[in-house]
Amino acid sequence: MDLGLTGKVAVVTGASKGIGLGIAHAFAREGAHVVLTARTASAVEEAAGAIASEHGVTARAVASDVSTAEGCDAIIAAAAELGGADIFVSNAGTGSNETVLEASDEKWLDFWNLHVMAAVRLSRGLAPQMEAKGGGAMLMNASICAVQPLWYEPIYNTTKSALMMFAKCLSTELIPKGIRVNTVNPGLIRTPDWENTARELAGDNWEGYLQEVADEHAPIRRFGSVEELADFCVFLCSPRASYAVGSTHHVDGGMLKTI
Ligand code: NDP
Repeated sequence: MDLGLTGKVAVVTGASKGIGLGIAHAFAREGAHVVLTARTASAVEEAAGAIASEHGVTARAVASDVSTAEGCDAIIAAAAELGGADIFVSNAGTGSNETVLEASDEKWLDFWNLHVMAAVRLSRGLAPQMEAKGGGAMLMNASICAVQPLWYEPIYNTTKSALMMFAKCLSTELIPKGIRVNTVNPGLIRTPDWENTARELAGDNWEGYLQEVADEHAPIRRFGSVEELADFCVFLCSPRASYAVGSTHHVDGGMLKTI
Protein backbone atom coordinates (compact mmCIF):
# COMPACT_ATOMS: atom_id res chain seq x y z
CA MET A 1 0.00 0.00 0.00
CA ASP A 2 1.40 3.41 -0.95
CA LEU A 3 0.87 5.59 2.09
CA GLY A 4 1.31 8.81 0.14
CA LEU A 5 4.05 10.15 2.39
CA THR A 6 6.84 10.75 -0.11
CA GLY A 7 8.31 14.23 0.35
CA LYS A 8 6.21 15.04 3.43
CA VAL A 9 7.92 16.56 6.48
CA ALA A 10 7.37 14.66 9.74
CA VAL A 11 8.40 16.03 13.16
CA VAL A 12 8.97 13.33 15.78
CA THR A 13 9.94 14.26 19.34
CA GLY A 14 11.93 11.90 21.51
CA ALA A 15 13.37 10.32 18.37
CA SER A 16 16.93 9.46 19.43
CA LYS A 17 15.94 5.98 20.66
CA GLY A 18 13.08 3.66 21.43
CA ILE A 19 9.65 4.24 19.94
CA GLY A 20 10.40 7.71 18.53
CA LEU A 21 13.44 6.45 16.66
CA GLY A 22 11.37 3.59 15.23
CA ILE A 23 8.65 6.01 14.11
CA ALA A 24 11.23 8.30 12.46
CA HIS A 25 12.71 5.32 10.58
CA ALA A 26 9.25 4.22 9.48
CA PHE A 27 8.40 7.67 8.09
CA ALA A 28 11.75 7.86 6.29
CA ARG A 29 11.19 4.39 4.83
CA GLU A 30 8.04 5.84 3.21
CA GLY A 31 10.05 8.70 1.70
CA ALA A 32 9.18 11.39 4.25
CA HIS A 33 11.77 13.89 5.48
CA VAL A 34 12.08 13.91 9.26
CA VAL A 35 12.88 16.32 12.07
CA LEU A 36 14.15 14.28 15.01
CA THR A 37 14.34 15.79 18.48
CA ALA A 38 15.80 14.82 21.86
CA ARG A 39 17.87 16.55 24.55
CA THR A 40 21.11 14.63 24.02
CA ALA A 41 22.73 16.22 20.96
CA SER A 42 25.14 13.37 20.14
CA ALA A 43 22.38 10.73 20.20
CA VAL A 44 19.87 12.65 18.11
CA GLU A 45 22.51 13.69 15.58
CA GLU A 46 23.68 10.10 15.23
CA ALA A 47 20.09 8.95 14.71
CA ALA A 48 19.46 11.61 12.05
CA GLY A 49 22.68 10.72 10.24
CA ALA A 50 21.77 7.02 10.16
CA ILE A 51 18.27 7.73 8.86
CA ALA A 52 19.50 10.07 6.13
CA SER A 53 22.05 7.58 4.84
CA GLU A 54 19.77 4.54 5.14
CA HIS A 55 16.67 6.02 3.52
CA GLY A 56 18.01 8.87 1.36
CA VAL A 57 15.78 11.53 2.90
CA THR A 58 16.58 14.77 4.72
CA ALA A 59 16.84 14.11 8.46
CA ARG A 60 17.31 17.17 10.68
CA ALA A 61 18.39 16.77 14.31
CA VAL A 62 17.22 19.24 16.96
CA ALA A 63 18.75 18.99 20.41
CA SER A 64 16.27 20.63 22.74
CA ASP A 65 14.15 20.06 25.82
CA VAL A 66 10.49 19.85 24.78
CA SER A 67 9.36 20.62 28.30
CA THR A 68 10.43 24.25 27.76
CA ALA A 69 8.98 26.93 25.48
CA GLU A 70 12.43 27.62 23.96
CA GLY A 71 12.95 23.93 23.27
CA CYS A 72 9.69 23.81 21.36
CA ASP A 73 10.46 27.01 19.44
CA ALA A 74 13.69 25.46 18.14
CA ILE A 75 11.73 22.50 16.75
CA ILE A 76 9.10 24.71 15.13
CA ALA A 77 11.89 26.75 13.47
CA ALA A 78 13.63 23.61 12.17
CA ALA A 79 10.40 22.38 10.60
CA ALA A 80 9.88 25.77 8.96
CA GLU A 81 13.37 25.56 7.43
CA LEU A 82 12.35 22.31 5.74
CA GLY A 83 9.31 24.03 4.21
CA GLY A 84 6.89 23.39 7.07
CA ALA A 85 5.59 20.31 8.88
CA ASP A 86 2.94 18.00 7.40
CA ILE A 87 3.03 15.61 10.35
CA PHE A 88 3.75 15.94 14.07
CA VAL A 89 4.20 13.04 16.48
CA SER A 90 4.38 14.09 20.13
CA ASN A 91 6.31 11.16 21.54
CA ALA A 92 8.92 12.38 24.06
CA GLY A 93 8.04 11.17 27.52
CA THR A 94 9.05 9.00 30.41
CA GLY A 95 7.62 6.98 33.25
CA SER A 96 7.40 8.12 36.85
CA ASN A 97 7.46 6.45 40.26
CA GLU A 98 5.92 8.07 43.35
CA THR A 99 2.96 8.32 45.66
CA VAL A 100 0.59 11.27 45.55
CA LEU A 101 1.24 12.05 49.20
CA GLU A 102 5.01 12.26 48.73
CA ALA A 103 5.45 13.79 45.27
CA SER A 104 6.38 17.50 45.17
CA ASP A 105 4.63 20.20 43.15
CA GLU A 106 7.83 20.50 41.15
CA LYS A 107 7.63 16.89 40.01
CA TRP A 108 4.00 17.28 38.95
CA LEU A 109 4.84 20.42 36.99
CA ASP A 110 7.88 18.83 35.30
CA PHE A 111 5.74 15.98 33.99
CA TRP A 112 2.94 18.37 33.04
CA ASN A 113 5.42 20.35 30.95
CA LEU A 114 6.89 17.22 29.35
CA HIS A 115 3.70 15.32 28.56
CA VAL A 116 1.15 18.08 28.03
CA MET A 117 2.72 21.50 27.44
CA ALA A 118 5.15 20.12 24.85
CA ALA A 119 2.19 18.89 22.81
CA VAL A 120 0.31 22.17 23.36
CA ARG A 121 3.23 24.39 22.36
CA LEU A 122 4.33 22.29 19.41
CA SER A 123 0.87 21.80 17.95
CA ARG A 124 0.21 25.54 18.34
CA GLY A 125 3.41 26.33 16.45
CA LEU A 126 3.18 23.59 13.81
CA ALA A 127 -0.54 23.88 12.94
CA PRO A 128 -0.08 27.09 10.91
CA GLN A 129 2.69 25.37 8.90
CA MET A 130 0.34 22.46 8.16
CA GLU A 131 -2.54 24.76 7.30
CA ALA A 132 -0.33 26.65 4.83
CA LYS A 133 0.42 23.32 3.12
CA GLY A 134 -3.26 22.39 2.87
CA GLY A 135 -3.55 20.16 5.95
CA GLY A 136 -1.69 17.59 7.97
CA ALA A 137 -1.80 15.09 10.80
CA MET A 138 -0.83 15.04 14.47
CA LEU A 139 -0.47 12.03 16.71
CA MET A 140 -0.08 12.13 20.49
CA ASN A 141 1.70 9.13 21.96
CA ALA A 142 0.04 8.74 25.35
CA SER A 143 -0.10 5.28 26.94
CA ILE A 144 -2.52 2.60 28.03
CA CYS A 145 -1.88 4.16 31.45
CA ALA A 146 -3.96 7.13 30.30
CA VAL A 147 -7.03 4.93 30.72
CA GLN A 148 -5.82 1.96 32.80
CA PRO A 149 -3.45 3.30 35.47
CA LEU A 150 -0.49 1.45 36.95
CA TRP A 151 -0.45 1.96 40.73
CA TYR A 152 3.16 3.12 41.05
CA GLU A 153 3.07 6.09 38.67
CA PRO A 154 0.14 8.43 39.39
CA ILE A 155 1.85 11.43 37.80
CA TYR A 156 2.51 9.52 34.57
CA ASN A 157 -1.08 8.21 34.48
CA THR A 158 -2.59 11.65 35.11
CA THR A 159 -0.48 13.62 32.64
CA LYS A 160 -0.93 11.01 29.88
CA SER A 161 -4.66 11.12 30.47
CA ALA A 162 -4.55 14.90 30.11
CA LEU A 163 -2.63 14.53 26.85
CA MET A 164 -5.40 12.29 25.51
CA MET A 165 -8.06 14.87 26.37
CA PHE A 166 -5.94 17.64 24.86
CA ALA A 167 -5.75 15.68 21.59
CA LYS A 168 -9.53 15.27 21.54
CA CYS A 169 -10.11 19.00 22.07
CA LEU A 170 -7.48 19.92 19.50
CA SER A 171 -8.91 17.55 16.90
CA THR A 172 -12.25 19.38 16.89
CA GLU A 173 -10.51 22.74 16.56
CA LEU A 174 -8.16 21.72 13.76
CA ILE A 175 -10.21 19.46 11.51
CA PRO A 176 -11.79 22.46 9.70
CA LYS A 177 -8.22 23.35 8.68
CA GLY A 178 -7.67 19.84 7.27
CA ILE A 179 -5.48 18.75 10.20
CA ARG A 180 -6.35 15.40 11.78
CA VAL A 181 -5.39 14.80 15.42
CA ASN A 182 -5.40 11.34 17.01
CA THR A 183 -3.91 9.56 20.03
CA VAL A 184 -2.16 6.22 20.29
CA ASN A 185 -2.09 4.33 23.59
CA PRO A 186 0.65 1.69 23.46
CA GLY A 187 0.86 -1.18 25.91
CA LEU A 188 4.18 -2.97 26.51
CA ILE A 189 6.63 -2.01 23.78
CA ARG A 190 10.06 -3.61 23.88
CA THR A 191 12.57 -0.75 23.86
CA PRO A 192 16.25 -0.77 24.87
CA ASP A 193 15.19 0.96 28.10
CA TRP A 194 12.84 -1.90 29.00
CA GLU A 195 15.70 -4.34 28.32
CA ASN A 196 18.11 -2.34 30.49
CA THR A 197 15.60 -2.21 33.34
CA ALA A 198 15.10 -5.97 33.06
CA ARG A 199 18.88 -6.53 33.20
CA GLU A 200 19.12 -4.36 36.32
CA LEU A 201 16.26 -6.16 38.05
CA ALA A 202 16.87 -9.75 36.94
CA GLY A 203 20.49 -10.03 35.76
CA ASP A 204 21.00 -13.02 33.45
CA ASN A 205 17.31 -13.89 33.65
CA TRP A 206 16.29 -10.58 32.08
CA GLU A 207 14.47 -12.20 29.16
CA GLY A 208 12.54 -14.33 31.65
CA TYR A 209 11.63 -11.19 33.57
CA LEU A 210 10.26 -9.52 30.41
CA GLN A 211 8.24 -12.67 29.68
CA GLU A 212 6.77 -12.56 33.20
CA VAL A 213 5.75 -8.93 32.71
CA ALA A 214 4.13 -9.77 29.38
CA ASP A 215 2.37 -12.84 30.83
CA GLU A 216 0.98 -10.76 33.68
CA HIS A 217 -0.30 -7.82 31.64
CA ALA A 218 -0.82 -8.67 27.97
CA PRO A 219 -3.15 -11.45 26.78
CA ILE A 220 -0.96 -11.79 23.68
CA ARG A 221 1.80 -12.86 26.13
CA ARG A 222 4.61 -10.86 24.57
CA PHE A 223 5.87 -7.30 24.22
CA GLY A 224 5.12 -5.44 21.02
CA SER A 225 8.09 -4.47 18.90
CA VAL A 226 8.92 -0.84 18.18
CA GLU A 227 8.35 -1.61 14.49
CA GLU A 228 4.83 -2.98 15.10
CA LEU A 229 3.86 0.24 16.86
CA ALA A 230 5.72 2.50 14.41
CA ASP A 231 3.93 1.03 11.38
CA PHE A 232 0.57 1.68 13.06
CA CYS A 233 1.54 5.29 13.87
CA VAL A 234 2.79 6.02 10.36
CA PHE A 235 -0.39 4.64 8.80
CA LEU A 236 -2.51 6.75 11.15
CA CYS A 237 -0.60 9.89 10.11
CA SER A 238 -0.87 9.06 6.40
CA PRO A 239 -3.56 10.19 3.98
CA ARG A 240 -4.71 6.54 3.87
CA ALA A 241 -6.19 7.07 7.35
CA SER A 242 -8.07 10.18 6.22
CA TYR A 243 -11.30 9.51 8.17
CA ALA A 244 -9.60 8.86 11.52
CA VAL A 245 -10.16 12.04 13.53
CA GLY A 246 -10.05 12.65 17.27
CA SER A 247 -9.78 8.96 18.17
CA THR A 248 -7.66 7.04 20.65
CA HIS A 249 -6.17 3.83 19.30
CA HIS A 250 -4.87 1.12 21.64
CA VAL A 251 -1.91 -0.91 20.41
CA ASP A 252 -1.47 -3.14 23.42
CA GLY A 253 -1.78 -6.86 22.68
CA GLY A 254 -5.09 -6.92 24.56
CA MET A 255 -3.77 -5.29 27.75
CA LEU A 256 -6.75 -2.93 28.08
CA LYS A 257 -9.27 -4.74 30.25
CA THR A 258 -12.36 -2.77 29.23
CA ILE A 259 -14.18 -2.16 25.93
P1 NDP B 1 12.76 6.07 25.67
O1 NDP B 1 13.15 6.42 27.06
O2 NDP B 1 13.34 4.88 25.02
O3 NDP B 1 13.01 7.34 24.73
C1 NDP B 1 12.57 8.61 25.13
C2 NDP B 1 12.97 9.63 24.10
O4 NDP B 1 12.48 10.90 24.49
C3 NDP B 1 14.48 9.76 23.97
O5 NDP B 1 14.80 10.13 22.65
C4 NDP B 1 14.78 10.91 24.94
O6 NDP B 1 16.04 11.50 24.62
C5 NDP B 1 13.57 11.81 24.65
N1 NDP B 1 13.22 12.74 25.71
C6 NDP B 1 12.96 12.47 27.01
N2 NDP B 1 12.71 13.60 27.68
C7 NDP B 1 12.82 14.62 26.79
C8 NDP B 1 12.69 16.02 26.88
N3 NDP B 1 12.42 16.64 28.04
N4 NDP B 1 12.85 16.75 25.76
C9 NDP B 1 13.14 16.15 24.58
N5 NDP B 1 13.27 14.84 24.44
C10 NDP B 1 13.11 14.07 25.53
O7 NDP B 1 11.13 5.98 25.72
P2 NDP B 1 10.12 5.05 24.91
O8 NDP B 1 10.53 4.95 23.50
O9 NDP B 1 9.88 3.84 25.71
O10 NDP B 1 8.79 5.92 25.05
C11 NDP B 1 8.44 6.90 24.11
C12 NDP B 1 7.03 7.37 24.44
O11 NDP B 1 6.14 6.26 24.43
C13 NDP B 1 6.91 8.00 25.84
O12 NDP B 1 6.05 9.11 25.78
C14 NDP B 1 6.29 6.89 26.67
O13 NDP B 1 5.55 7.39 27.75
C15 NDP B 1 5.41 6.21 25.64
N6 NDP B 1 5.08 4.82 25.96
C16 NDP B 1 6.07 3.86 26.01
C17 NDP B 1 5.73 2.54 26.28
C18 NDP B 1 6.76 1.45 26.30
O14 NDP B 1 6.40 0.30 26.67
N7 NDP B 1 8.01 1.67 25.93
C19 NDP B 1 4.33 2.16 26.55
C20 NDP B 1 3.40 3.25 26.48
C21 NDP B 1 3.77 4.53 26.19
P3 NDP B 1 16.84 12.42 25.68
O15 NDP B 1 16.83 11.69 27.00
O16 NDP B 1 18.20 12.59 25.09
O17 NDP B 1 16.10 13.71 25.74
